[in-house]
Amino acid sequence: MKEITEKFDMEKVIEEFERLTKDAENVQKETLKRILEENASAEYLQSLGLNGRTDPESFKACVPLVTYKDLEPYINRIVDGDVSPILTGKPITAISLSSGTSQGKQKCIPWNDELFETTVQIYQTSFAFRNKEFPIQNGKALSFIYSSKLSQTKGGVTAGTATANVFSHPGYRHTMQALKSPSVSPDEVIFSPDFQQTLYCHLLCGLLFREEVSLISAPFAHSLVNAFRTFEQVWEELVTDIREGVLSSRITHPFIRTAMSKLLTPNPELANLIHKKCIGLSNWYGLIPELFPNAKYLLGIMTGSMEHYLKKLRHYAGEVPLVTSEYGSSEGWIASNVNPKVAPEFATYVVLPQIAYFEFIPLKQLDGTKVELEPVGLTDVKIGEEYEVVFTNPAGLYRYKLGDVVKVIGLRNSTPEIRFIRRNNLMLTINIDKNTEVDLQLSVETASKLLAEEKIEVIDYTSYIDLSKEPGHYVIFWEISGEASDDVLDECCTCLDKSFVDLGYVSSRKVKGIGALELRLVRKGTFQKILEHYVGLGASAAQFKTPRCIGPTNTKVLQILLENVVKNYISSAYN
Ligand code: AMP
Repeated sequence: MKEITEKFDMEKVIEEFERLTKDAENVQKETLKRILEENASAEYLQSLGLNGRTDPESFKACVPLVTYKDLEPYINRIVDGDVSPILTGKPITAISLSSGTSQGKQKCIPWNDELFETTVQIYQTSFAFRNKEFPIQNGKALSFIYSSKLSQTKGGVTAGTATANVFSHPGYRHTMQALKSPSVSPDEVIFSPDFQQTLYCHLLCGLLFREEVSLISAPFAHSLVNAFRTFEQVWEELVTDIREGVLSSRITHPFIRTAMSKLLTPNPELANLIHKKCIGLSNWYGLIPELFPNAKYLLGIMTGSMEHYLKKLRHYAGEVPLVTSEYGSSEGWIASNVNPKVAPEFATYVVLPQIAYFEFIPLKQLDGTKVELEPVGLTDVKIGEEYEVVFTNPAGLYRYKLGDVVKVIGLRNSTPEIRFIRRNNLMLTINIDKNTEVDLQLSVETASKLLAEEKIEVIDYTSYIDLSKEPGHYVIFWEISGEASDDVLDECCTCLDKSFVDLGYVSSRKVKGIGALELRLVRKGTFQKILEHYVGLGASAAQFKTPRCIGPTNTKVLQILLENVVKNYISSAYN
């Protein structure tokens, strides 16, 4: 009976998705109306002279496009405890702290129950489509989730990362239960203040429930790779814990020890099995199916800057499919993956018209420069064009420029199916050169093929503009998995330089307006230190995205990188 109800629910979710996406234009109008009615008393909207109007035309005429910076003074008042209707009708009582890794600065994003509601809607939609392709029968999830503790601002507002706000919502467990993905790990592990201890315990819980694990997930692919790289380091300790039924002394938090001791009893049989499997693997290829024989797929955001980790993830996953999950941000959700069988490199996301009011700024190439045109509505986008995403959400963000660039690949009913392209900021620029995170990613991808011939991989990378000497030049930092010869790394460096094909870069390099690119190799573990640095600042390890370009003001991260350089190479391209 229970199964029938659940099956019926999933079909209902898909039916509802079809209905809403077929009627996207009207659903968008209703969504905007709902948001504006609920927040009509907000000081921000009142000051813009909307006077209760809720139609898209009046909205666009009165309300300006904004970035976080424009809303910051309002948000600061909320954070300081002003409970008057500032951005929303009902006071905002919680904020999400963004990771600060993509833009270099942590943002305080208003958070409320309506945003949790949209989280449930998007999880349900993605799950309904996933479960059609990869059915799970009452399984458990090995979820690498890390919920930093929620704190209170001086003004009494609850503050945490977006993931912490989601995980600690009273409805979260219930939602995951309904989605047949309850975590193998107890809450004490998920809510621990120390993410390394949490990670160790997640791995241990996964092994203890290995037969039941039907899904392995993390918000971002980086966390999945990080988890299994850690497994390579600690697997013998995990096996000992299982054999003896005693938790490693590396776990120091009493509440985690208590929770874990309830799960651990001496189990030499399981310990021997895992030991045998681990030593039988060649370079850890296919580790995941060996450890978790019933895992149906790996789930997490795998597009955009996460693509770099796919190769390693596939190595661990063997034949187990990789499924990219949703597209969203601390500011709100955007789109769902309804074609889970498509490989992450080709994945698209369908915008859900009921979760926010969307606009898209066309990014056109005019006379060699990108120009931003007037935003268009969700149903007015053109297939094949690139846009910056703008949304109006139910938590006080109106016509908010998210800073992401997407490409419209097609239509699902009448709502766009988009591909994530990149963040909209130019990362590497010295004079007339313009290189984005995608240009950097492509350059690293090309050069790392030379390393792959030596069976060495680029664990992680970032970049920096060095202006300390004239002319300025690009510096790329690499952490690699083995020992490569100087000849190969010299070649990689020159290849990195040549792979930036932007005309401004190439012409500047030729006339020495930009100096030779420099590849700096950093010690193993350097990027882990950067992750720990951000976690120390209050970012969620679950939301971590390696910053792909280090600005001059990001002195701490730059210091970590510079202190760990072991060797540098100078490109011989354009000599
Ligand atoms: P955060 O606010 O820390 O959760 O980061 C949100 C940002 O992560 C978005 O603005 C995107 O740049 C990136 N992001 C989120 N979902 C995806 C996705 N599915 N594909 C690529 N990038 C994503």
